[in-house]
Amino acid sequence: MFSKRLDRIKPSATLAMTAKAAELKAKGINVLNLSVGEPDFNTPDNIIKAAKNAMDNGYTKYTPGSGILKLKEAVCNKLSRDNKLLYNTDEIIISCGGKHALYNACQVLFESGDEVIIFSPYWVSFPDFVSITGAAPIFVDTLSNHQYEPNFNDLESKITSKTKGIIINSPSNPTGGVWSDAAIIRTLEIANKNNLWVFSDECYEQLVYSGDFQSIANFTDNKDKILTFQSCSKTYAMTGWRIGYTAGNKDIIKAMSKLQGQSTSCPNSIAQYAAIEALTGDQSQVSAMAQIFNKRKELIVNGLNSIEHIHCEVPNGAFYAFPNISYFLNKTYNGQIINSCDDLSLLLLNEKYIVTVSGEPFGAPNNIRFSYATSEDVINQMLTGLREFLALVK
Ligand code: PLP
Repeated sequence: MFSKRLDRIKPSATLAMTAKAAELKAKGINVLNLSVGEPDFNTPDNIIKAAKNAMDNGYTKYTPGSGILKLKEAVCNKLSRDNKLLYNTDEIIISCGGKHALYNACQVLFESGDEVIIFSPYWVSFPDFVSITGAAPIFVDTLSNHQYEPNFNDLESKITSKTKGIIINSPSNPTGGVWSDAAIIRTLEIANKNNLWVFSDECYEQLVYSGDFQSIANFTDNKDKILTFQSCSKTYAMTGWRIGYTAGNKDIIKAMSKLQGQSTSCPNSIAQYAAIEALTGDQSQVSAMAQIFNKRKELIVNGLNSIEHIHCEVPNGAFYAFPNISYFLNKTYNGQIINSCDDLSLLLLNEKYIVTVSGEPFGAPNNIRFSYATSEDVINQMLTGLREFLALVK
């Protein structure tokens, strides 16, 4: 009944866990939800006020398909201010979130017969964005003890005449890894040598805990084949507003605009006006949120590492801890065999109401993802429950 295209993708595993947690909560169960991929703070007041003003002033109509000029100007100023990147407004498109932007770019550039490099562990949506175009995602290993930087031998060995693009996500979901300058430069050299499109998903750019974030396009004079994706979602706690943007070569931006005009018409008008305030207004909330995340990161990573047989690398960005739980695989809990990290994640949910996301959909069968976009109290309760649970795994 349905097109073959649909068979090439899977439902989002992270959204599925969020839905499951909501279901349990609706039944009155005190779930410890560490599955969410969004800040637990509300959108800052100045941004909400800007949205209200937009409605009062009648900005409730369609906008140009690729976004309003004032927001594109705000994006250009933001990229120059925060990322030292110089772009003109015709090199910017506003989309319905970073996800939509990445999806559009894949649609515009990739097709059947192409191969696209994705670093594993990867954000769940990358392989699907590529597969739905007919292209093949090609997975490259990373080094967990080096902030999940690429295994360059693997990278070089996976590039073929069909390779058309490479998707980088630093800081990363699910690992929290942030690549060093050296790793970025080497990756860009390889991409350049092989004439690849480089996608840099920088939606966690403001959540880096030691050192400054450097936008990938900053590492080369030839930005022509680099697309930079950023978003208001994580930075300004605006996940529901759906505003993300892309900076890149104006021909690609034009092509993405053409596609967007025939799919979503335009991003939400009110949210675009709110995004102008987000990008140009008071930025103090951004660093305040990052400081809180950093404190929680210490709590959760130290707590996880204090549990016997769990090993968690210290992530330098985003809001995820991604411990290795392989010791517990093929062991039993109350007579039930834990065959996979899916099983472990499910048992944690059923036995302790701890909601996590298994590493499987991220291409990491030995890990589980814990989001620390939640209170210290929830993190502490989770650590107690996890400790109790694992003590019974034999
Ligand atoms: N990229 C990564 C790595 C993400 O984790 C997410 C959201 O979880 C997105 C992009 C998309 O975010 P949004 O569409 O809300 O901008």
